[in-house]
Amino acid sequence: MTSPSGPGVTTRWNMPYTEEPRFIQMETVVICNAKCPFCPQHEVQRDPPRMPDWMWKKIIDETRGMGIVYRPFLINEPFVDKRMPEIMRYIRKDPTAKIEFNTNGSLLNDELDREILDLGIDVMRFSIDGFSQETYGPSRVGLDYEDVKRRTTRFLEIWKQGGYDKDCRTEVRMIDLPENRHEQEAYRAYWEPRCTEVLFTELYNWPWQGQTECVHKPCWKMTDSMYFYSDGKATLCCWDPTERGVIGDIKTHTVMEIWKSPQYDAVRTILNDGRRELLHLCSRCDAYKNHDFSAYEVNPPREPMTEPDGR
Ligand code: SF4
Repeated sequence: MTSPSGPGVTTRWNMPYTEEPRFIQMETVVICNAKCPFCPQHEVQRDPPRMPDWMWKKIIDETRGMGIVYRPFLINEPFVDKRMPEIMRYIRKDPTAKIEFNTNGSLLNDELDREILDLGIDVMRFSIDGFSQETYGPSRVGLDYEDVKRRTTRFLEIWKQGGYDKDCRTEVRMIDLPENRHEQEAYRAYWEPRCTEVLFTELYNWPWQGQTECVHKPCWKMTDSMYFYSDGKATLCCWDPTERGVIGDIKTHTVMEIWKSPQYDAVRTILNDGRRELLHLCSRCDAYKNHDFSAYEVNPPREPMTEPDGR
């Protein structure tokens, strides 16, 4: 049964928040080489735009041995950062660590492919929204479809021929849109034999992109994950490009001090109560609006909420 949602709801949930973070995303640079119309990345400004070396090293050092999955990007393109092999090498000093990338594929080449595959990638996700320049071009502005297809195909050849497919999973993903549905069959036929899995994903709404209602549900995003900007601030969510949900700062605290802070705990309680209106970032976010959280419902329900203002 789907959990009810709405201002009159008094449902409470007990989400499976982890004792330690399991996933850490780090925005090592605030740059993407595409200007996709659905992504607010190109509006982001941060100082510094490039995370200092000591900062990403501090985050990694403080979480060694914890079995963390590191995603060295936020909403930027990871391979814009030429330090990426060095960052991977540093992460790999920890045998419990894993590394995952989401990439547009446009900056890969044979030399880099081999270098990063040798360093060890656990999951490589390619975002390719189309199977022709006509459908791809309008959604991935600034990138050339044929070039991306060639570079991604080449990466996957090296991945398979080099035997990297034993330890590294590859996904090729397209956002499911009416404009590209007619190409999905051909897309699957081309990519499926080449990678581990082809996925058609839902287009999500970034918070504060026109939402007027507050969703009275908990959230999965920060149950086990942390997100760091290039300036060292930690935010609640990877869908927070403009720092509405800042919850700590690696310049003044350790990773675990932030994760265990009273502020973080307060956010967990608020989201367990489905009271997104009390959190500026989450008050205008419809993520998981239709998700069934009933497995996490607890009794007794809480008091009815008052003013769902959202600001
Ligand atoms: S409610 Fe939305 S903005 Fe808030 S943490 Fe969840 S996904 Fe992010």
